[in-house]
Amino acid sequence: MSILRRHHRRKLLDQPFPDAWLQILHRDVPMIRMLTDAEQQRMREIMMILIDEKYWEGGGGLKVTEYMRVIVASQAAIPLLNLDLTDYYHNVRTFILYPGAYVQNQEHVGSDGLVHSGTTNLGEAWYNGPVILSWQAVEQAARQPGRGENVVFHELAHAVDMLSGMTNGTPSLRSANDYEKWNNIMSQTFDQVRTGYRHGQRDVIRPYGVTNVAEFFAVTTELFFDAPLALQQAHPSVYTQYQSFWGQDPAARWPAPQNHGPTS
Ligand SMILES: [Zn+2]
Repeated sequence: MSILRRHHRRKLLDQPFPDAWLQILHRDVPMIRMLTDAEQQRMREIMMILIDEKYWEGGGGLKVTEYMRVIVASQAAIPLLNLDLTDYYHNVRTFILYPGAYVQNQEHVGSDGLVHSGTTNLGEAWYNGPVILSWQAVEQAARQPGRGENVVFHELAHAVDMLSGMTNGTPSLRSANDYEKWNNIMSQTFDQVRTGYRHGQRDVIRPYGVTNVAEFFAVTTELFFDAPLALQQAHPSVYTQYQSFWGQDPAARWPAPQNHGPTS
C-alpha cells in the first residue's frame, strides 16, 4: 500500500462512523448482532474504507444510494474481519449494482461444455474487473441471513480466489503447508457431492456449487458465513479448513441447536 493511501486511510478512520450508517446496520443487517464488539469495530472500519475507495455504479437504470453502499459494504466486510492478506479486495475497484436479476450479455462456457449467453444472473466477478450484484438479492441476503445464500459473499469469494492469480477455488492459503490437506478435502467433497447429485441425493451445497471448483469455493463460502451450522454438520472437514483460512468460527455465533440451515 502506498504511503499516500495509508495517510488517507488514517485520516478517514479518524472520522466518526456516521450515525445514519449505524442505524441502517442495526435495523437491516441482523448479522452484526452476532459479532463481538471488536469485530463490529473492525467491520465499521472496513466499511468506511470500502465505501470511500471503491467506485460505486448503478446499472439498468439504478441510482446507487448511500443506503445501498452501506448494505453492500457491510456484507463485504464480514469475510475480511480476520483476513488482512486481501488488502480490502484490492483487485476489485468497482461495485456495479443492478435493480434485480440481470441478463448477462457475455457468453460463457458451462460445465456441460456448451456456451451459454443471455442467462439471468444475480452477480458476477471479473478477473481484475468489477463485481456486479443484483441489489434485490443483496438486500434480501443482508436482511435474512441463515438461508445459506448471499451474493456478496459469493462474488467476493471469487475475488479472494482470484488474488492467488488463478480462479481455481484455492485462494492464497496462510501457509505453504496448508495446500495438500486443503486440496484433498476440497476435491474429495466436490466429487462426493457431485456424485451424490447424480444419484438423486441432496446436499446443503446447492447443485451450482459443483459446476466447477471456483463455484465450489464461492458457494461453500456463502454457507460458511451465512448458514455455518449446516455446513459444519454436513461437511465438518470443509468447515475446519475455512475456519483456519478465513480466521473465523461463524458456527459459534449462531444459537444452537435450532435449525438455521438452508431450507432447500
Ligand atoms: Zn460464482
